[in-house]
Amino acid sequence: MAPDLPIEERLVASGVRYTKARRAVMAELFRSAGPRSAAELYQAMRRSIPLSSLYRTLMVLERVGVLTPHHGSRGLTRYEPAEWLSGHHHHLVCVECGSVEDVAVSPADERRMRGLLGSIAGRVGFEPGGHTLEVEGRCVRCS
Ligand SMILES: [Zn+2]
Ligand SMILES: [Zn+2]
Repeated sequence: MAPDLPIEERLVASGVRYTKARRAVMAELFRSAGPRSAAELYQAMRRSIPLSSLYRTLMVLERVGVLTPHHGSRGLTRYEPAEWLSGHHHHLVCVECGSVEDVAVSPADERRMRGLLGSIAGRVGFEPGGHTLEVEGRCVRCS
C-alpha cells in the first residue's frame, strides 16, 4: 500500500494536488516488485489512464520527489517510489529481457558495502553519501 499521507504532504508542499490518477500510479508502483516504465504501468493499470497523461503524471511525481527515475540500458526510463518512502534497496537488472527487480540487502551486508564503497571512493578523495547498486545478469525466467 502506498503511504498516502506523506505523499500527499509532499505534493501539497509543492502546490500539487494528489489526484485520483496520481494516487493510482503511486499505488501501482508500490505494488510492483521493481521500477516500471510508463508502458509497463499502462498495461498493469489496464489502460485506465491514457498513456499521454500517464507520462505527465510520472513527470509531476518525479518533480516533487516522490518518484525516482531509473535510467536503464536501452534508454528506457522506469520509475519507482523514492527511497524516503520505500526504504533503501538495490536492483537486479536482466540483460536479456531488461526487467529490473528490487532486492533488499541485510543490514550486515549493507554495512560491508558502505565500507567497500568508502574505500573505493576514498582513494580519489570522494566522500560517498548514498549509493544504488545495480547487479546485471540473467533473471530466473531468462537463465
Ligand atoms: Zn530476464
Ligand atoms: Zn527499486
